[in-house]
Amino acid sequence: MDFEFTEEQKMLKDMAYRFAQAEFAPLVKECDEKEKYMPEIRKKAAQNGLVGAWLPEEYGGSGAGILGNAIIAEELSKVDMGQGLNIIIATFGCEAIYQYGSEEQKKQYLPPICRGEQVSAGAFTEPNAGTDVAGYKTRAVKDGDDYVINGNKMFITNGTVCDFMVVQCITNPEEKKHNSFSLIIVPADAKGVTRNKIHGKMGIRASNTAEIAFEDVRVPQTNLVGKEGNGFRQLVHLFDTTRVIVGAQAIGLSEACLETSIKYVKERTVFGAPLGSFQITQMKLTEMAIKIEALRGLVYKAAWLIDEGRPDYTLAAMAKFFGGETAVFCANYAVELHGGYGYIDEYPVQKWYRDAKILELYEGPKEAEIMTIGRVLQAR
Ligand SMILES: Cc1cc2nc3c(=O)[nH]c(=O)nc-3n(C[C@H](O)[C@H](O)[C@H](O)COP(=O)(O)OP(=O)(O)OC[C@H]3O[C@@H](n4cnc5c(N)ncnc54)[C@H](O)[C@@H]3O)c2cc1C
Repeated sequence: MDFEFTEEQKMLKDMAYRFAQAEFAPLVKECDEKEKYMPEIRKKAAQNGLVGAWLPEEYGGSGAGILGNAIIAEELSKVDMGQGLNIIIATFGCEAIYQYGSEEQKKQYLPPICRGEQVSAGAFTEPNAGTDVAGYKTRAVKDGDDYVINGNKMFITNGTVCDFMVVQCITNPEEKKHNSFSLIIVPADAKGVTRNKIHGKMGIRASNTAEIAFEDVRVPQTNLVGKEGNGFRQLVHLFDTTRVIVGAQAIGLSEACLETSIKYVKERTVFGAPLGSFQITQMKLTEMAIKIEALRGLVYKAAWLIDEGRPDYTLAAMAKFFGGETAVFCANYAVELHGGYGYIDEYPVQKWYRDAKILELYEGPKEAEIMTIGRVLQAR
């Protein structure tokens, strides 16, 4: 067993952190306040090999694998989770194209994203069904050589800035629920697509989130990803990867909370002594550090297993669940340790407190992970 990163991974880690510090650290507050999405940063990140690095070189990536992508997500999230998300999720939905798409689709859709020229979105959640993936209603009906799509999607990251979306649709309503779905690639500028940015998010406000309506949207049947009727299983497998990356975001944010808190408790004096000299403070820092270290183990192992060709969806669910819990826990302690200063925007901890909560919600709320893990435990 080897717990060491390779030299390449160490370099990637260092480069991602330095990129985040140089390119978006100064803009964090402004982008949070103004809900500002910065395409320039994503493009520059792509030029530095940070977008789609998980993909093999033939599709524009650098073959860094999911562990490499987790390292990038962690380092970017240490500086800002919103900007980091814009870079990490620029390829969202493409996991399915890479896994199940035709060679032609892979060559057409993946390299432009890695070059920073395009952005994708994964459009799955609907206004009336999120966690219940089998409850989606968007319908794609065959007509000649096309599919005609009708329905609505909700909370779609990159929704108004993407060039194309991978959309979960019902194509085979006559089949049992889990065999009735398919993933279909839809160009964002297709006739009948309406996209509206959602404003007023609690955190990750530098990211773009939208609701999308599809009204008689026509796309060629060649835009189907993989086999018709396999969409549900494809989406569930996509979570194997994306949940690990959410866990990695959580490591980054939690680390930022811990490092900032350590610095603060050394400087702040209470009752005539440094705040850090009190055992209660030490306990808080210790609990944060232990959780972060344990989370690292889960995330890196889950990522490594994917790269080994042995994805473990239970471990991915654990990484996501524990990631969300750890980030919320650490952000909460960071605010507490900063006292009143933690509640105002002089320090970044109030923002991290707001950002952290999304890690317990997107890619399925923690209840979805509990269902996955609970089922597996009892089936053993
Ligand atoms: C900022 C942001 C970005 C997002 N990006 C994307 C994206 O790019 N693409 C996309 O498709 N979706 C995206 N989502 C959607 C996200 O994945 C869903 O919001 C999430 O899966 C929950 O679905 P829901 O909101 O419909 O909640 P619901 O499914 O209505 O659930 C509501 C709450 O009920 C509880 N719950 C659910 N199921 C159970 C259960 N079985 N037992 C007990 N309690 C339960 C949970 O606490 C849950 O939070 C995003 C959401 C946000 C907020």
